[in-house]
Amino acid sequence: MSKNSKNIYIIGAGISGLITALELEKAGFSPTIIEASASVGGRVKTETINGYVLDRGFQVLLESYPKAIKHLDYTDLDLQELVPGAVIYSNGKQQTIGDPLRNLALLLPTLTSNVGSIKDKLSIYKLNLALKKKTIDAIFNDKNNTTTLEYLKTKGFSDTIINHFFRPFFAGIFLETELQTPSKLFEFIYKMFGEGLAVIPKDGIQAIPNQLKAKLKNTTFLFNSPVNKVEEKRIILNDGTVIESDITVIATESAKLLHTNTTIDWKSCDTLYFTVENDTLKKPIIGLLADASSIINNIFFTTSIKNNNTNKDAVLSVTIVKSHDLTEKELIKKVTLELDTICSIKTKQFIKRYQIKRALPNLKSVKYATDGKALKHSETIYLAGDHTLNGSLNAAMTSGEDVVKQIVSKFN
Ligand SMILES: Cc1cc2nc3c(=O)[nH]c(=O)nc-3n(C[C@H](O)[C@H](O)[C@H](O)COP(=O)(O)OP(=O)(O)OC[C@H]3O[C@@H](n4cnc5c(N)ncnc54)[C@H](O)[C@@H]3O)c2cc1C
Repeated sequence: MSKNSKNIYIIGAGISGLITALELEKAGFSPTIIEASASVGGRVKTETINGYVLDRGFQVLLESYPKAIKHLDYTDLDLQELVPGAVIYSNGKQQTIGDPLRNLALLLPTLTSNVGSIKDKLSIYKLNLALKKKTIDAIFNDKNNTTTLEYLKTKGFSDTIINHFFRPFFAGIFLETELQTPSKLFEFIYKMFGEGLAVIPKDGIQAIPNQLKAKLKNTTFLFNSPVNKVEEKRIILNDGTVIESDITVIATESAKLLHTNTTIDWKSCDTLYFTVENDTLKKPIIGLLADASSIINNIFFTTSIKNNNTNKDAVLSVTIVKSHDLTEKELIKKVTLELDTICSIKTKQFIKRYQIKRALPNLKSVKYATDGKALKHSETIYLAGDHTLNGSLNAAMTSGEDVVKQIVSKFN
């Protein structure tokens, strides 16, 4: 039987499913992707509403992600760079903190800000150097398994810098405010921030999966085809269609499809978009609301970078990580008030809210990669997705690569 005659199906056209297809094509296979929705991307989607191009949740690519470097064409994505740092809103003040080694303009404000002590700033510098030297393997093989909060305390950072910088900054990345995420993931993400910039494609974050799709030459797509059940050598769609399969890769949460009880705990967030009177930051930098009482975690003027908006207004994305039980109306009211009183930003018009209930897997232990065996559910069913490693674009890509290594070794 030739490789081309193998029926390999991938469930899910998110980043992990697309990389699985790409790697299978490289190995000579012609897979089929079955996707519940109408397009590729999964959690990496962009939509245009009344001329405003909005990512479904504020999300950045770290250009130093090893797998992104390997799989993406950065020039074609026309990546727009964010300033390496943040504007911190706290106690009625607005201060800028950043990495002065990469952006000299941030040297003075970073040194003069009272976001942390001089000792904290030196510790940040030392952490940058240490993590530049520490390899990714060393980070993930480290026996030290602690939370991010414990890690920062052990490194001697003061409560001030933890609460005014690390907590809000990483809450926006880990989508949890208690910094309970394993410190390995903190070290990895921090290292990635130290070695490259955070970027967003000019066409929006979905340009990433769109580019991966365009690279696929021998893959068939079945869109709008939610899968109900996966059995050995059989896939059953919601509409009752039965598909015979030699190999099935489930590139999404598998419990419901396999009828197992290994469900994943998910972290959620809200991203709201508004038009505003003025871009008050005037550069592409993330704003963090550091006071414990703020409901907003971070803000970003999406129109501070080149984009495809056809409207002229400045657009602000506002992300909320804290859990809340506000109605949409109450949430918009509270957010509008905080933007005005804390950030001096006057909103003009509310555009859209994205309530993302399954944004990131809440994993107690994280991995960079596996030898693939963990991704093998049975002889014919394999698993991929960020939840198999850690919640990041890099992990989604790695899981796709790892699962294909297993499949290829089966047929060789
Ligand atoms: C708001 C937000 C912010 C983020 N920020 C960042 C960031 O800044 N940097 C970073 O690195 N990562 C970030 N991430 C994480 C990153 O987006 C994910 O790690 C990655 O997209 C996961 O890809 P995946 O393929 O594993 O899963 P998914 O993207 O979830 O893909 C799964 C696919 O399977 C499909 N599917 C599900 N069930 C079925 C079914 N029954 N039948 C058929 N198809 C099905 C879904 O429709 C989906 O297309 C963020 C995520 C969110 C939501």
